[in-house]
Amino acid sequence: RQMVFRLSTGSSALDTLLGGGIESMSITEAFGEFRSGKTQIGLTLCVTAQLPKTQGGGEGKVAYIDTEGTFRPDRIAQIATRFQANPEEVLENILYARAYTVEHQFQLLTLIAAKMTEEPFSLLIVDSIMALFRVDYSGRGELSERQQVLGKMLSRIMKIAEQFNVAVYLTNQVMADPGGGASFVPDPKKPVGGHVLAHASTTRLYLRKGRGEQRVCKIFDSPCLPEAEATFQIGLGGVEE
Ligand code: ATP
Ligand code: MG
Repeated sequence: RQMVFRLSTGSSALDTLLGGGIESMSITEAFGEFRSGKTQIGLTLCVTAQLPKTQGGGEGKVAYIDTEGTFRPDRIAQIATRFQANPEEVLENILYARAYTVEHQFQLLTLIAAKMTEEPFSLLIVDSIMALFRVDYSGRGELSERQQVLGKMLSRIMKIAEQFNVAVYLTNQVMADPGGGASFVPDPKKPVGGHVLAHASTTRLYLRKGRGEQRVCKIFDSPCLPEAEATFQIGLGGVEE
C-alpha cells in the first residue's frame, strides 16, 4: 500500500500552516491576484518534489501543464541551486507541456497518466486550471457545459492523484467583478470555477501580496484545517521563510 506524503513548499511557515506541506493523493488549489505567488509556489514545488523524503521531498518526477506560458527553466535552476540539487537533473525530471485548448489539456492528462505508469512521479501541476476553460467556453449560455467538462477533467486529475500517489497543485484565477462603468475590479476572494472546483479541491489557498516580496497565504474554507494565515517570501531561491 502506498503511503501519503507531503511536499515542502519551501517555506516553513507555509508548510506548518498546511500541516507539513502539500499532500499526495489530494488536490491543493492556490488562487489570488496576479503576482500573488501562485506560479512561484509551483516552480518551487517542481524542485522539492524531487528531493529525498527526509528533506520534505517526494523522490519523484514532476508533470507540469502550463496554460499561460509562465514556466521559467532559469528560475527552476536557481531554486534547485538553493536546495543543493543539480539544476540540469532537476529540469530533466520535469515533464513539461504547454496546453492551448481544453481538449489539449485533456490529452496531456492522458499522456501524463501513461508516463506515470512507467516512472515514479510525485507531483502534477496545472498552471492554471481555469484559463483555457474561460477562453473555450466564453459564450453566453456555455457555463453549464463548461462546468460539466471541468468536472470531468477534475475527476480525471483526482484519479491520477490517487492511482499514482502524487500531489496535485492547481493554480486558479480570481473573478473580475464589473464595477461601475467600464472598470473591472478583480475580487481577490472569489476564485473562478464555481462549486465544481470548490468541491474537487481538498485544500484551497488564498494568496495575497504583503509588503515587498512578502506574501500571505490563508486556508480558504477547509473542513479540517484552521482558518489561519502564514507569511512567506519570494526570493532568488523560490518560496522561502
Ligand atoms: P499571475 O496571476 O500573473 O499568474 P502569480 O500569482 O502566478 O501571478 P507569480 O508569477 O508566482 O504570480 O509571482 C510573481 C512575483 O514573484 C513577482 O512579482 C515577484 O514579486 C516575485 N518574484 C519572481 N521572481 C523573483 C525573484 N527571482 N526574486 C524575488 N522575487 C521574485
Ligand atoms: Mg502565474
